[in-house]
Amino acid sequence: MSNHDEELESVDAFMEWVEARHPGEAEYHQAVRGVACHVLDMARDDADLREQRVLQRLTEPDRTLSFRVVWEDDQGRIEINRGYRVQHSNAIGPYKGGLRFDPSVTPAVLKFLAFEQLFKNSLTGLNLGAGKGGADFDPRGRSSREVMRFCHAFMTELHRHIGQLTDVPAGDIGVGSREIGFLFGQYKRLENQFAGAITGKAVGAGGSRMRQEATGYGAVYFLCSMLAEAGEELDGRRVAISGAGNVALHAAIKAQELGAVVTTLSNRAGYILKPDGFGANDIERIRADYPADRDLEAVGDSVGAEWVEGKKPWETECQIAIPSATQNELDEDDARHLADGGCSIVIEGANMPLTSAAESVLDEARVQIAPGKAANAGGVAVSGFEMSQNRLGQTWSAERLDEDLRETMKAIYEKAQEHGKIEGRIDLRRGADRAGFERVAKAVLSFGAM
Ligand code: GLU
Repeated sequence: MSNHDEELESVDAFMEWVEARHPGEAEYHQAVRGVACHVLDMARDDADLREQRVLQRLTEPDRTLSFRVVWEDDQGRIEINRGYRVQHSNAIGPYKGGLRFDPSVTPAVLKFLAFEQLFKNSLTGLNLGAGKGGADFDPRGRSSREVMRFCHAFMTELHRHIGQLTDVPAGDIGVGSREIGFLFGQYKRLENQFAGAITGKAVGAGGSRMRQEATGYGAVYFLCSMLAEAGEELDGRRVAISGAGNVALHAAIKAQELGAVVTTLSNRAGYILKPDGFGANDIERIRADYPADRDLEAVGDSVGAEWVEGKKPWETECQIAIPSATQNELDEDDARHLADGGCSIVIEGANMPLTSAAESVLDEARVQIAPGKAANAGGVAVSGFEMSQNRLGQTWSAERLDEDLRETMKAIYEKAQEHGKIEGRIDLRRGADRAGFERVAKAVLSFGAM
């Protein structure tokens, strides 16, 4: 045994080591603990992985960049924000992951997201490393011109750190097609290159068809694989969804199309409820109207939905829950409501939407959990397809991309299932972490000590 083996003796010992190195970063600790619970034995029992300290190395990002973003608001006042990019690992491809613009953005949040991205991107089977970035900027309540000035200022610093073979950002919370347009515009102006250094671009401006739909559709394809395994179908199932962003709305569209009764969508202020389920036109209308003024109550009213102020969708009865808003949105009480109400499957549309306590409650109630790393990997997978198209100078059809997305989600499900067998049952979280880790660990080993 080498002198560093103590930290692999138990998950608690490992976390003590991690927490001492990354003090006070609660979300990061939560994400790393989740993975350590599933892969610690692999990291310990394989002599090479143990001696080369591969798991330990993977908890330390390659680098974390932090920079000042100065811009002028519509009144000519100077605003100062902080931008970040966590380049976690390029062991299996260029750094890849979204940008989040939200006041809740902190180094700990971005580190957890970049860490999760590592396993997610590995599971896609594509050559995508892991990164995440963003800023503590809140686009809500800002004019489009203010958002443009912010994005241009942000990219003025970020451009020197990214590139199609180096680091390829994309969208996330607060960064949709409008922001990607501004960011890419500034990137190509500064670099004088129309290169695929950012994904989620508009179709016709270097973007890929199906990128917008991919995360939500992919989550529903993953759900269909789970149901098929149990000999069940989505048709007629009651599905509660949180969030009203890109992931939530596209999950709602696909689930409704496949016959599910989609009853809820939500934002930070409350949720909208239609007990008999939203129709296709309802969801389309919400998708068209909500982003403009973010008044979910009014948009819900226009499609005949009830507004429930200050509450979350998990108090409603459903068989399937798809949390698609943000990290730790679903807590212990919510988990109890779900389990008591007969929910049997939770699909993580968002990244790490369950608190640790919520996970325990759901586990005890034998509710199956599809981890975000697997279930929401469709978005980054189609980002990978966008990168391929950019390099080849091609534009693939929606049909082809949808087929590729379905196959990717099926393959991810199979990997998570195969690696997730434990005590006569299947834990997809364990399977996703083990399959994701196996590929990255092999790559890290092959490079030697670095
Ligand atoms: N932000 C998305 C995620 O969490 C997409 C990342 C990407 O397309 O690079 O996976």
